Amino acid sequence: MNIVILGAGAIGSLFGALLSKKNNVILIGRNSHIQAIGKKGLDIEGKTQMNVKILSEKSVDKVTFLPDLLILTVKSYDTYSAISQAKQLIGDNTVVLSLQNGLDNIDKIEKIVDRRQLIAGVTTHGAFFSEPGVVKHTGKGQTILGELNGWKTKRITSIIDVFNKAGIETIASEDIVREIWIKAIVNSSINSLTTFSSCKNGYLLENPILEKVVEKVCRESTNIANVYGINLSYENMIKKTKEVIRNTSDNYSSMLQSFKKGKKTEIDSINGKLADVGKKHDIDTTMNEILTYIVKFGYGE
Ligand code: NAP
Repeated sequence: MNIVILGAGAIGSLFGALLSKKNNVILIGRNSHIQAIGKKGLDIEGKTQMNVKILSEKSVDKVTFLPDLLILTVKSYDTYSAISQAKQLIGDNTVVLSLQNGLDNIDKIEKIVDRRQLIAGVTTHGAFFSEPGVVKHTGKGQTILGELNGWKTKRITSIIDVFNKAGIETIASEDIVREIWIKAIVNSSINSLTTFSSCKNGYLLENPILEKVVEKVCRESTNIANVYGINLSYENMIKKTKEVIRNTSDNYSSMLQSFKKGKKTEIDSINGKLADVGKKHDIDTTMNEILTYIVKFGYGE
């Protein structure tokens, strides 16, 4: 399969390296990373260890074919600009896959790409961008892909097959939008709180006050999902959230890492978007609003 990965950071480089074993993959990323890959290949360290010679470019303009699959792995705040730049790469038969976190990526991509060409996914793999040319695979996980309308089409089956053959354990979902919401609820209850408290994920359950706040955020976010029409139970969501906290107890969340580097965060696409949806339905959004303000205030916005 001909695959373009747009956003060769942590997760894009990891998936690109794995997929490149059996497919024609090209990574699009920032100059320093692309130069380092050109010089000594792409190094994956940690749970997966490999060095791959992989085609990589700093601009979509250098890609001379229309890919079968374009995987979007930029942060949610870059989604619209990245997909706009890649418009000329999207042929009639190109499938665009968003593998990102956040609740607003599909809406942004749909402004450029016909919804019928769009599929989505979530992954529980963990990856960390160590330095140009080097990405650390911090946690092995599962990937879930699905058509937005839930159909088990031939193309989703064949993309899942390509992922599995590359060693990326992947299953199909008949409700990928629900999976995206589940991930957003878990992230809304962990990422902003670890950013605000500047702590590892595990501390959220060690500190009884923070544990109470996790529960409150999770309850509010689940209520918002329910009024939006995604039926989830609070009991299941808090169980899942605490499970993720325990499994990643030694990690710093990606939001806290971005925050510490003075980079933008995905707060608007997670807690911010949840608050927007809740307000439209006239229900309480206090926790998500406050967390959004606090994380954004850190930048003096
Ligand atoms: P990341 O390391 O920041 O990777 C994104 C990369 O894309 C960055 O290097 C960024 O450069 C680059 N980029 C942005 N716009 C671009 C453009 N127009 N052309 C080329 N490159 C561009 O982020 P990540 O951690 O991989 O996360 C990507 C998405 O996956 C997020 O939605 C995240 O929530 C989700 N996710 C991540 C993980 C994980 O463990 N990392 C796990 C599951 C899901 P700059 O930094 O210079 O902007």
